[in-house]
Amino acid sequence: MHLSKVAQWVENSVKNAVAPVTGMGDNVDKVDLPKAYAVTDSKHAVGVFPPALQPHLGDEFKSYDGQVGYFNPQGGWAEAKNATLSMLNEARRMGAEVVSNARVTSLVYAEPKYDQTKPKVIGVKTADGRTFLADRVVLAAGCWTSSLLDQLKLSLPRSVLKATAHCVLTLKLNPEVAQKFKGAPVTFNMYSGFYTFEPNADGILKCAIHGTGSLDFDPANYPGTDFPNVATEKQLKHMIAELRSQYPILQLEGPNKNAEIHFTRMCWYSDSVDENFLIDFFPGVDGLLVASGDSGHGFKSGTDELVPDFGLSSHQRRVFSFAHHLEMNDPANPNRTSMDSIRIGEEAPNPESYLESDAIKAKM
Ligand SMILES: Cc1cc2nc3c(=O)[nH]c(=O)nc-3n(C[C@H](O)[C@H](O)[C@H](O)COP(=O)(O)OP(=O)(O)OC[C@H]3O[C@@H](n4cnc5c(N)ncnc54)[C@H](O)[C@@H]3O)c2cc1C
Repeated sequence: MHLSKVAQWVENSVKNAVAPVTGMGDNVDKVDLPKAYAVTDSKHAVGVFPPALQPHLGDEFKSYDGQVGYFNPQGGWAEAKNATLSMLNEARRMGAEVVSNARVTSLVYAEPKYDQTKPKVIGVKTADGRTFLADRVVLAAGCWTSSLLDQLKLSLPRSVLKATAHCVLTLKLNPEVAQKFKGAPVTFNMYSGFYTFEPNADGILKCAIHGTGSLDFDPANYPGTDFPNVATEKQLKHMIAELRSQYPILQLEGPNKNAEIHFTRMCWYSDSVDENFLIDFFPGVDGLLVASGDSGHGFKSGTDELVPDFGLSSHQRRVFSFAHHLEMNDPANPNRTSMDSIRIGEEAPNPESYLESDAIKAKM
């Protein structure tokens, strides 16, 4: 990224990284943790990597001078699968009955009473004809939220929650190379949206492009989470070029081949305009809580964890509300912040045009 374009962004990011986010202070431990700092030259860019990997870094870091970013020593990653399984087990331990294969197709409403101002939701019906009654229904259907609300005849303007598909690539590294990556930071190029993780215990390195995504796929046509292993060739080419530029040690072909494509996946997002969650009761209906709007950061921020007691801070209640999202969705709103400018920098190109740009061609 070029200094002139992103100085403010970096300044804000460093500030956010060292201080608790406004309004979330009540729950944040006041411990003296290592602070984030700006990285403005190659020496520092290389220095944030483990010593064993440093000699193998590519131009992305070795020719970093003239760019700016930041390193947050508090940053990290979590194992999504195991974390989700732990939450599931904990829910069961606490007495939850988990019912799978239950596709909700309609809501059950209470008989209207004479003094009732709004219809009251008291349960759901599933495709196989079962009925589940509840004091409160939480609709947390990820990227399917918008289409499910349509089906339930409770539509929102489509752009409030927009389902976008992003490409994830995983590589299997040979153990010797994977070992060099031990302790490598999560990297994120704010210009292109490309990010990488440290390989996991099985030597699987995950990377993806956190960008505007694709609108070509309608999640309503993909009822399960088992999306076919698909990657558009362009996105794949882009990621491999970025990987080569960051980590030339990851040879995918030739005599020094030491990594191979493990799988590619579509990563679904339920995007909101300003990337805030939407966690609020559906307007004009009693008893239906909607929890969605993960905007691709739902795992790390834990939508499910936030919801059970609806235990949000006053700041979160405001920015996660329907009122806020409908306001943000109003093009006439002068305070409307576009999601894309947050994601990949104010002047960052759309990933599609980035693929055609000199910057990426230089890496190919
Ligand atoms: C390949 C991939 C990589 C990702 N990488 C990251 C990452 O690195 N970091 C990160 O923070 N996030 C990542 N994400 C995003 C993260 O997974 C989501 O933000 C998160 O799962 C959203 O949580 P959620 O509970 O809102 O929705 P989901 O986890 O999508 O859960 C929605 C659930 O609703 C169910 N459902 C849908 N329709 C119905 C219906 N009609 N009836 C009943 N149930 C229904 C679905 O089956 C699903 O189980 C990734 C996602 C994918 C797919």
